[in-house]
Amino acid sequence: MRFIIYLVLAYVAYRVIKAVIRPKDRISRGENGGVIDEMVQDPQCKMYIPRREAIAKAIDGRTYHFCSEACATKFLQQGKSQ
Ligand SMILES: [Zn+2]
Repeated sequence: MRFIIYLVLAYVAYRVIKAVIRPKDRISRGENGGVIDEMVQDPQCKMYIPRREAIAKAIDGRTYHFCSEACATKFLQQGKSQ
């Protein structure tokens, strides 16, 4: 029976060490309470992309999400020409 307790302790220690070594940057990216797969629309090409993969740009106090840097650049250029 002691063996199982050691096994559990080893597992817990392993988890703790892993959590310390690896900063939880992946987990903390889901800012809004872990809603990671929320879909956002690219205002340039009207495509929907997962928020975590989108490129966020703050333009005139609003945050827009783009599928790529190219779309962000196009959107910015169009905004300026109007
Ligand atoms: Zn796009």
